[in-house]
Amino acid sequence: MDLARKRFAEVAAFVKAVGLLSPGRTLKLELGSSAAMRAKHGTDSFADNTLGLTRSVLLRQGHRETRQVEGISVVRGLPWPIFDGVVAHELGHVWAAENNLLLGTVEEEGLCEVIAYHWYTRHGTLGAERLAAAIETSPSPVYGDGFRMMRKVQSGRNLEQFISAMLSRTQR
Ligand SMILES: [Zn+2]
Repeated sequence: MDLARKRFAEVAAFVKAVGLLSPGRTLKLELGSSAAMRAKHGTDSFADNTLGLTRSVLLRQGHRETRQVEGISVVRGLPWPIFDGVVAHELGHVWAAENNLLLGTVEEEGLCEVIAYHWYTRHGTLGAERLAAAIETSPSPVYGDGFRMMRKVQSGRNLEQFISAMLSRTQR
């Protein structure tokens, strides 16, 4: 197993432990250069600064629409602590998709940043404190503002409690 797949399995074990993914769930990890990802998935899905992508398809069953996740794509060659955070973030999108959470873009990206933040604060990865601080102080109106908004929603709850609260609040 190469390092990326080892790291992927470790971060997946973390999100399973906190209840984001069912224990038996397996996901396909695709690795490639930014250029290869843009060529394959389009520049709308994979912008110049995109590091990861959760690929899902919309399924229609009568009036009900569900998103089925096909896998996660991550840029090859990232330093592994960054790679870990990208995977934790993308697994948040998997969870939101598979549970049909009704979230706007800023809310969903913020939620995914909260999950990456918890990975960094719990796992003491190389440079984890700085990476967690970078999430907290991000000036991005989507990722940074979304994170700060979702941290307020989380308030005193731990990650597990926050996840179940989000499920009961936003699942359609
Ligand atoms: Zn995202």
